[in-house]
Amino acid sequence: MMRCISCGAEYSDDEIIYTCSKCGSILEVICQPNVSKDVFQCRKSTMWKYKEFMPVDPAGIVSLEEGGTPFCKCDKLGNELGIELYVKVEGSNPTGSFKDRGMSVGITKAMELGVDTVGCASTGNTSASLAAYAARAGLKCVVLLPSGKVALGKLAQAMFHGAQVLSVRGNFDQALEAITSLALEGHLYLLNSINPYRLEGQKSIGFEIVDDLSWKSPDRIILPVGNAGNISAIWKGVTEFHRAGFIDDLPRMTGIQAEGAAPIAHAIWEGLNDIEPVENPETVATAIRIGAPVSSKKAIRAITESDGLAETVSDEEILSAQKLLARTEGIGVEPASAASIAGLIKLVNSGKIDKGEQVVCVVTGHVLKDPNVAINACEEPIEIDPNIDSLLKAIKGD
Ligand SMILES: *Cc1c(COP(=O)(O)O)cnc(C)c1O
Ligand SMILES: [Zn+2]
Repeated sequence: MMRCISCGAEYSDDEIIYTCSKCGSILEVICQPNVSKDVFQCRKSTMWKYKEFMPVDPAGIVSLEEGGTPFCKCDKLGNELGIELYVKVEGSNPTGSFKDRGMSVGITKAMELGVDTVGCASTGNTSASLAAYAARAGLKCVVLLPSGKVALGKLAQAMFHGAQVLSVRGNFDQALEAITSLALEGHLYLLNSINPYRLEGQKSIGFEIVDDLSWKSPDRIILPVGNAGNISAIWKGVTEFHRAGFIDDLPRMTGIQAEGAAPIAHAIWEGLNDIEPVENPETVATAIRIGAPVSSKKAIRAITESDGLAETVSDEEILSAQKLLARTEGIGVEPASAASIAGLIKLVNSGKIDKGEQVVCVVTGHVLKDPNVAINACEEPIEIDPNIDSLLKAIKGD
Protein backbone atom coordinates (compact mmCIF):
# COMPACT_ATOMS: atom_id res chain seq x y z
CA MET A 1 0.00 0.00 0.00
CA MET A 2 1.09 3.60 -0.66
CA ARG A 3 0.13 6.48 1.60
CA CYS A 4 0.23 10.27 1.18
CA ILE A 5 2.65 11.77 3.68
CA SER A 6 0.49 14.89 4.10
CA CYS A 7 -3.21 13.88 4.10
CA GLY A 8 -2.87 10.15 4.72
CA ALA A 9 -4.86 9.10 1.62
CA GLU A 10 -4.11 5.48 0.70
CA TYR A 11 -3.46 3.97 -2.71
CA SER A 12 -3.22 0.37 -3.86
CA ASP A 13 0.14 -1.15 -4.86
CA ASP A 14 -1.02 -1.85 -8.41
CA GLU A 15 -1.91 1.76 -9.13
CA ILE A 16 0.61 3.78 -11.19
CA ILE A 17 0.63 7.04 -9.28
CA TYR A 18 3.43 9.38 -8.18
CA THR A 19 1.70 12.06 -6.11
CA CYS A 20 -1.48 12.20 -4.03
CA SER A 21 -4.52 12.80 -6.23
CA LYS A 22 -6.33 14.42 -3.27
CA CYS A 23 -3.75 16.97 -2.10
CA GLY A 24 -0.79 16.79 -4.50
CA SER A 25 1.76 15.80 -1.85
CA ILE A 26 4.25 12.92 -2.14
CA LEU A 27 3.63 9.26 -1.30
CA GLU A 28 5.40 6.60 0.73
CA VAL A 29 5.17 2.83 0.63
CA ILE A 30 3.96 1.21 3.85
CA CYS A 31 5.99 -1.89 4.61
CA GLN A 32 6.38 -3.21 8.15
CA PRO A 33 6.61 -7.01 8.12
CA ASN A 34 6.42 -9.00 11.33
CA VAL A 35 9.67 -11.02 11.27
CA SER A 36 12.59 -11.67 13.57
CA LYS A 37 16.01 -10.39 12.54
CA ASP A 38 17.21 -14.02 12.75
CA VAL A 39 15.80 -14.52 9.24
CA PHE A 40 18.68 -12.38 7.88
CA GLN A 41 21.37 -14.73 9.17
CA CYS A 42 23.49 -16.70 6.69
CA ARG A 43 22.16 -14.75 3.73
CA LYS A 44 24.47 -13.26 1.11
CA SER A 45 25.25 -9.64 1.92
CA THR A 46 23.32 -7.77 -0.76
CA MET A 47 20.36 -5.46 -0.11
CA TRP A 48 18.08 -8.47 -0.71
CA LYS A 49 19.28 -9.91 2.59
CA TYR A 50 16.37 -7.85 3.97
CA LYS A 51 13.85 -8.96 1.31
CA GLU A 52 10.98 -9.23 3.81
CA PHE A 53 11.18 -5.43 4.10
CA MET A 54 11.01 -4.89 0.33
CA PRO A 55 7.52 -4.30 -1.14
CA VAL A 56 7.95 -6.56 -4.19
CA ASP A 57 7.64 -10.30 -4.84
CA PRO A 58 11.10 -11.81 -4.13
CA ALA A 59 10.47 -14.43 -6.82
CA GLY A 60 10.86 -11.88 -9.61
CA ILE A 61 13.56 -9.49 -8.50
CA VAL A 62 15.79 -7.75 -11.05
CA SER A 63 19.17 -7.54 -9.35
CA LEU A 64 22.87 -7.05 -10.03
CA GLU A 65 23.65 -7.95 -6.40
CA GLU A 66 23.58 -4.33 -5.26
CA GLY A 67 24.12 -3.33 -1.63
CA GLY A 68 26.31 -5.06 0.93
CA THR A 69 28.77 -2.21 0.35
CA PRO A 70 31.97 -1.66 2.40
CA PHE A 71 31.64 -0.10 5.85
CA CYS A 72 35.14 1.25 6.47
CA LYS A 73 36.32 2.41 9.87
CA CYS A 74 38.40 5.53 9.22
CA ASP A 75 40.69 5.96 12.23
CA LYS A 76 43.13 8.45 10.73
CA LEU A 77 40.45 10.95 9.82
CA GLY A 78 38.35 10.07 12.87
CA ASN A 79 41.18 10.59 15.34
CA GLU A 80 42.08 13.89 13.75
CA LEU A 81 38.49 15.06 14.27
CA GLY A 82 38.09 13.46 17.70
CA ILE A 83 35.21 11.19 16.67
CA GLU A 84 34.63 7.52 15.79
CA LEU A 85 34.19 7.59 12.02
CA TYR A 86 32.82 4.99 9.60
CA VAL A 87 32.42 5.54 5.88
CA LYS A 88 29.73 3.63 3.94
CA VAL A 89 31.15 3.30 0.43
CA GLU A 90 28.23 3.36 -2.00
CA GLY A 91 30.55 3.72 -4.99
CA SER A 92 31.03 -0.04 -4.70
CA ASN A 93 27.56 -0.73 -6.09
CA PRO A 94 27.26 -2.29 -9.60
CA THR A 95 27.08 1.01 -11.51
CA GLY A 96 29.05 2.98 -8.92
CA SER A 97 26.37 4.74 -6.87
CA PHE A 98 23.63 4.00 -4.32
CA LYS A 99 21.02 4.59 -7.04
CA ASP A 100 21.34 0.88 -7.86
CA ARG A 101 19.51 -0.06 -4.66
CA GLY A 102 16.53 2.04 -5.68
CA MET A 103 16.58 0.86 -9.28
CA SER A 104 16.61 -2.81 -8.30
CA VAL A 105 13.30 -2.34 -6.49
CA GLY A 106 12.01 0.21 -9.03
CA ILE A 107 12.65 -2.01 -12.05
CA THR A 108 11.29 -5.06 -10.24
CA LYS A 109 8.12 -3.03 -9.60
CA ALA A 110 8.04 -1.95 -13.26
CA MET A 111 8.07 -5.64 -14.28
CA GLU A 112 5.26 -6.41 -11.82
CA LEU A 113 3.20 -3.58 -13.28
CA GLY A 114 3.84 -4.89 -16.80
CA VAL A 115 5.15 -1.62 -18.30
CA ASP A 116 7.42 -1.67 -21.37
CA THR A 117 9.19 1.71 -21.09
CA VAL A 118 10.89 3.37 -18.13
CA GLY A 119 12.41 6.82 -17.87
CA CYS A 120 13.96 9.46 -15.68
CA ALA A 121 15.49 12.89 -15.61
CA SER A 122 18.91 12.77 -14.06
CA THR A 123 21.99 14.66 -12.99
CA GLY A 124 23.81 11.48 -14.12
CA ASN A 125 23.81 8.59 -11.69
CA THR A 126 20.09 7.89 -11.83
CA SER A 127 20.32 7.52 -15.61
CA ALA A 128 23.45 5.35 -15.43
CA SER A 129 21.73 3.03 -13.00
CA LEU A 130 18.35 3.00 -14.73
CA ALA A 131 19.99 2.23 -18.08
CA ALA A 132 21.77 -0.80 -16.63
CA TYR A 133 18.76 -2.23 -14.78
CA ALA A 134 16.42 -1.59 -17.72
CA ALA A 135 18.88 -3.47 -19.94
CA ARG A 136 18.92 -6.37 -17.48
CA ALA A 137 15.11 -6.47 -17.43
CA GLY A 138 14.74 -5.98 -21.20
CA LEU A 139 12.82 -2.71 -20.89
CA LYS A 140 13.05 0.34 -23.12
CA CYS A 141 14.72 3.25 -21.32
CA VAL A 142 14.58 7.01 -21.93
CA VAL A 143 16.75 9.42 -19.94
CA LEU A 144 16.79 13.22 -19.90
CA LEU A 145 20.04 14.91 -18.93
CA PRO A 146 20.73 18.63 -18.45
CA SER A 147 22.89 19.61 -21.42
CA GLY A 148 26.61 19.95 -20.64
CA LYS A 149 26.17 19.40 -16.89
CA VAL A 150 26.59 15.66 -16.56
CA ALA A 151 29.88 14.08 -15.45
CA LEU A 152 31.55 12.09 -18.20
CA GLY A 153 31.51 8.65 -16.54
CA LYS A 154 27.77 8.81 -15.92
CA LEU A 155 26.98 9.92 -19.48
CA ALA A 156 29.13 7.09 -20.83
CA GLN A 157 27.26 4.53 -18.71
CA ALA A 158 23.77 5.70 -19.73
CA MET A 159 24.71 5.59 -23.41
CA PHE A 160 26.67 2.35 -23.22
CA HIS A 161 23.84 0.40 -21.55
CA GLY A 162 21.63 1.36 -24.47
CA ALA A 163 19.27 3.99 -23.07
CA GLN A 164 17.87 6.64 -25.36
CA VAL A 165 19.75 9.66 -24.03
CA LEU A 166 18.21 13.09 -24.60
CA SER A 167 20.16 16.22 -23.76
CA VAL A 168 17.83 18.92 -22.45
CA ARG A 169 18.48 22.65 -22.93
CA GLY A 170 17.76 23.43 -19.29
CA ASN A 171 18.64 22.31 -15.78
CA PHE A 172 17.69 19.15 -13.88
CA ASP A 173 14.54 20.62 -12.33
CA GLN A 174 13.22 21.58 -15.77
CA ALA A 175 14.10 18.17 -17.25
CA LEU A 176 12.23 16.45 -14.40
CA GLU A 177 9.16 18.56 -14.96
CA ALA A 178 9.14 17.62 -18.65
CA ILE A 179 9.49 13.86 -18.18
CA THR A 180 6.99 13.86 -15.29
CA SER A 181 4.33 15.29 -17.63
CA LEU A 182 5.08 12.52 -20.11
CA ALA A 183 4.81 9.88 -17.37
CA LEU A 184 1.49 11.30 -16.13
CA GLU A 185 0.09 10.84 -19.66
CA GLY A 186 1.07 7.17 -19.39
CA HIS A 187 3.89 7.08 -21.95
CA LEU A 188 6.49 5.68 -19.55
CA TYR A 189 7.00 4.55 -15.95
CA LEU A 190 8.89 7.26 -14.08
CA LEU A 191 11.81 6.13 -11.96
CA ASN A 192 12.94 9.37 -10.40
CA SER A 193 12.94 9.36 -6.62
CA ILE A 194 9.43 10.83 -6.55
CA ASN A 195 8.55 7.18 -7.24
CA PRO A 196 8.31 5.85 -3.67
CA TYR A 197 9.55 2.37 -4.67
CA ARG A 198 13.00 3.83 -5.36
CA LEU A 199 13.29 4.88 -1.72
CA GLU A 200 12.28 1.38 -0.58
CA GLY A 201 15.50 0.05 -2.11
CA GLN A 202 17.62 2.90 -0.79
CA LYS A 203 16.37 2.42 2.78
CA SER A 204 18.60 -0.68 2.82
CA ILE A 205 21.58 1.66 3.43
CA GLY A 206 20.04 2.30 6.85
CA PHE A 207 19.48 -1.45 7.38
CA GLU A 208 23.11 -2.25 6.54
CA ILE A 209 24.57 0.48 8.77
CA VAL A 210 22.86 -0.82 11.91
CA ASP A 211 23.54 -4.44 10.91
CA ASP A 212 27.23 -3.53 10.40
CA LEU A 213 27.27 -2.02 13.90
CA SER A 214 25.93 -5.29 15.39
CA TRP A 215 22.35 -4.02 15.69
CA LYS A 216 23.13 -0.65 17.19
CA SER A 217 22.35 2.77 15.80
CA PRO A 218 25.26 5.17 15.30
CA ASP A 219 24.92 8.58 16.95
CA ARG A 220 24.73 10.24 13.57
CA ILE A 221 24.45 9.56 9.83
CA ILE A 222 25.75 12.27 7.49
CA LEU A 223 25.07 12.37 3.76
CA PRO A 224 24.88 14.73 0.79
CA VAL A 225 21.40 15.95 -0.09
CA GLY A 226 20.21 16.77 -3.61
CA ASN A 227 16.68 15.67 -4.43
CA ALA A 228 16.51 14.53 -0.79
CA GLY A 229 15.30 11.01 -1.53
CA ASN A 230 18.24 9.26 0.04
CA ILE A 231 18.16 10.96 3.44
CA SER A 232 14.41 10.24 3.59
CA ALA A 233 15.00 6.61 2.59
CA ILE A 234 17.75 5.95 5.14
CA TRP A 235 15.58 7.47 7.88
CA LYS A 236 12.69 5.25 6.78
CA GLY A 237 14.98 2.23 6.98
CA VAL A 238 16.28 2.88 10.47
CA THR A 239 12.82 3.74 11.82
CA GLU A 240 11.39 0.49 10.38
CA PHE A 241 14.12 -1.52 12.12
CA HIS A 242 13.55 0.49 15.30
CA ARG A 243 9.80 -0.23 15.17
CA ALA A 244 10.57 -3.91 14.58
CA GLY A 245 12.62 -3.89 17.78
CA PHE A 246 15.97 -4.65 16.04
CA ILE A 247 17.65 -1.49 17.43
CA ASP A 248 17.01 0.56 20.59
CA ASP A 249 18.07 4.01 19.40
CA LEU A 250 17.92 6.15 16.29
CA PRO A 251 20.61 8.23 14.56
CA ARG A 252 20.55 11.99 14.08
CA MET A 253 20.10 12.53 10.35
CA THR A 254 22.48 15.16 9.07
CA GLY A 255 22.08 16.50 5.54
CA ILE A 256 24.79 18.41 3.68
CA GLN A 257 24.06 20.63 0.69
CA ALA A 258 26.26 22.67 -1.61
CA GLU A 259 26.09 26.41 -0.85
CA GLY A 260 24.73 27.15 -4.32
CA ALA A 261 21.95 24.54 -4.09
CA ALA A 262 20.78 24.51 -0.49
CA PRO A 263 17.00 24.95 -0.21
CA ILE A 264 16.66 22.26 2.47
CA ALA A 265 19.40 23.64 4.70
CA HIS A 266 17.74 27.07 4.52
CA ALA A 267 14.31 25.60 5.37
CA ILE A 268 15.78 23.79 8.40
CA TRP A 269 17.59 26.91 9.64
CA GLU A 270 14.42 28.98 9.30
CA GLY A 271 12.18 26.31 10.87
CA LEU A 272 9.99 25.90 7.77
CA ASN A 273 8.05 22.74 6.78
CA ASP A 274 8.91 23.11 3.11
CA ILE A 275 11.45 24.72 0.83
CA GLU A 276 11.75 27.88 -1.19
CA PRO A 277 13.14 26.58 -4.53
CA VAL A 278 16.54 27.87 -5.74
CA GLU A 279 16.16 29.25 -9.29
CA ASN A 280 19.63 28.59 -10.69
CA PRO A 281 21.39 26.01 -8.55
CA GLU A 282 25.17 25.90 -9.05
CA THR A 283 27.91 23.64 -7.68
CA VAL A 284 30.85 21.53 -8.85
CA ALA A 285 29.02 18.59 -7.23
CA THR A 286 26.68 18.00 -10.18
CA ALA A 287 24.84 15.12 -8.45
CA ILE A 288 23.40 17.58 -5.92
CA ARG A 289 22.93 20.52 -8.26
CA ILE A 290 19.18 20.62 -7.59
CA GLY A 291 17.04 23.67 -6.77
CA ALA A 292 13.63 22.10 -6.11
CA PRO A 293 14.13 18.75 -4.33
CA VAL A 294 11.06 16.53 -4.75
CA SER A 295 11.44 14.77 -1.40
CA SER A 296 12.01 17.97 0.58
CA LYS A 297 9.05 17.40 2.94
CA LYS A 298 10.23 13.91 3.83
CA ALA A 299 13.80 15.11 4.32
CA ILE A 300 12.82 18.03 6.55
CA ARG A 301 10.78 15.59 8.66
CA ALA A 302 13.70 13.17 8.89
CA ILE A 303 16.09 15.88 10.07
CA THR A 304 13.60 17.43 12.49
CA GLU A 305 12.25 14.18 13.98
CA SER A 306 15.75 12.80 14.49
CA ASP A 307 17.02 16.01 16.10
CA GLY A 308 19.55 16.19 13.27
CA LEU A 309 21.27 19.02 11.44
CA ALA A 310 21.62 20.60 8.03
CA GLU A 311 24.80 22.30 6.84
CA THR A 312 26.11 23.83 3.64
CA VAL A 313 29.61 23.58 2.17
CA SER A 314 31.42 25.52 -0.53
CA ASP A 315 32.81 23.94 -3.71
CA GLU A 316 36.28 24.55 -2.32
CA GLU A 317 35.44 22.64 0.87
CA ILE A 318 33.94 19.81 -1.20
CA LEU A 319 37.02 19.45 -3.41
CA SER A 320 39.41 19.60 -0.50
CA ALA A 321 37.44 16.93 1.44
CA GLN A 322 37.38 14.75 -1.69
CA LYS A 323 41.17 14.85 -1.87
CA LEU A 324 41.59 14.38 1.88
CA LEU A 325 39.45 11.22 1.92
CA ALA A 326 41.31 9.82 -1.09
CA ARG A 327 44.74 10.54 0.37
CA THR A 328 44.26 9.71 4.06
CA GLU A 329 41.91 6.74 3.79
CA GLY A 330 42.23 5.52 0.19
CA ILE A 331 38.54 6.04 -0.57
CA GLY A 332 37.88 7.69 -3.93
CA VAL A 333 34.52 9.41 -4.26
CA GLU A 334 32.87 11.86 -6.62
CA PRO A 335 32.45 15.51 -5.53
CA ALA A 336 28.84 15.24 -4.28
CA SER A 337 29.82 12.35 -2.01
CA ALA A 338 32.64 14.37 -0.50
CA ALA A 339 30.06 16.89 0.70
CA SER A 340 29.33 14.52 3.60
CA ILE A 341 33.00 14.62 4.69
CA ALA A 342 33.22 18.39 4.13
CA GLY A 343 30.08 18.85 6.21
CA LEU A 344 31.42 16.60 8.96
CA ILE A 345 34.62 18.65 9.20
CA LYS A 346 32.67 21.92 9.31
CA LEU A 347 30.26 20.66 11.98
CA VAL A 348 33.07 19.31 14.17
CA ASN A 349 34.99 22.58 13.86
CA SER A 350 31.94 24.65 14.79
CA GLY A 351 31.23 22.41 17.81
CA LYS A 352 27.85 21.21 16.51
CA ILE A 353 29.10 17.62 16.47
CA ASP A 354 30.41 16.50 19.86
CA LYS A 355 33.81 14.95 20.41
CA GLY A 356 33.54 11.18 20.75
CA GLU A 357 30.38 10.84 18.65
CA GLN A 358 30.03 7.72 16.54
CA VAL A 359 29.42 9.04 13.03
CA VAL A 360 28.68 7.28 9.73
CA CYS A 361 29.33 9.29 6.56
CA VAL A 362 27.62 7.88 3.48
CA VAL A 363 29.76 8.49 0.39
CA THR A 364 27.35 8.13 -2.47
CA GLY A 365 29.31 7.64 -5.72
CA HIS A 366 32.68 6.50 -7.12
CA VAL A 367 35.54 8.86 -8.01
CA LEU A 368 35.60 7.59 -11.63
CA LYS A 369 32.10 8.94 -12.18
CA ASP A 370 33.62 12.39 -12.64
CA PRO A 371 37.11 11.85 -14.08
CA ASN A 372 37.48 15.48 -15.20
CA VAL A 373 37.20 16.84 -11.67
CA ALA A 374 39.67 14.22 -10.40
CA ILE A 375 42.23 14.97 -13.13
CA ASN A 376 41.91 18.73 -12.71
CA ALA A 377 42.64 18.38 -8.98
CA CYS A 378 46.05 16.85 -9.69
CA GLU A 379 49.33 17.88 -11.26
CA GLU A 380 50.26 16.49 -14.65
CA PRO A 381 52.42 13.34 -14.55
CA ILE A 382 56.16 14.04 -15.01
CA GLU A 383 57.40 12.63 -18.31
CA ILE A 384 60.65 10.66 -18.11
CA ASP A 385 62.91 8.57 -20.33
CA PRO A 386 62.76 4.83 -19.68
CA ASN A 387 66.06 4.50 -17.80
CA ILE A 388 67.12 4.27 -14.18
CA ASP A 389 68.81 7.71 -14.09
CA SER A 390 65.81 9.76 -15.08
CA LEU A 391 63.58 7.57 -12.89
CA LEU A 392 65.81 8.17 -9.88
CA LYS A 393 65.95 11.86 -10.60
CA ALA A 394 62.15 12.04 -10.76
CA ILE A 395 61.42 10.15 -7.51
CA LYS A 396 64.16 11.90 -5.52
CA GLY A 397 62.79 15.20 -6.78
CA ASP A 398 66.05 16.79 -8.00
C1 LIG B 1 21.76 11.08 -6.37
C2 LIG B 1 23.01 11.41 -5.69
C3 LIG B 1 23.05 12.22 -4.55
C4 LIG B 1 21.83 12.90 -4.00
O1 LIG B 1 20.87 12.02 -3.47
P1 LIG B 1 19.36 12.53 -3.29
O2 LIG B 1 18.60 11.31 -2.97
O3 LIG B 1 18.97 13.14 -4.59
O4 LIG B 1 19.38 13.54 -2.19
C5 LIG B 1 24.25 12.42 -3.92
N1 LIG B 1 25.38 11.89 -4.39
C6 LIG B 1 25.40 11.11 -5.49
C7 LIG B 1 26.69 10.56 -5.97
C8 LIG B 1 24.21 10.85 -6.18
O5 LIG B 1 24.25 10.09 -7.27
ZN1 LIG C 1 -2.61 13.74 0.11
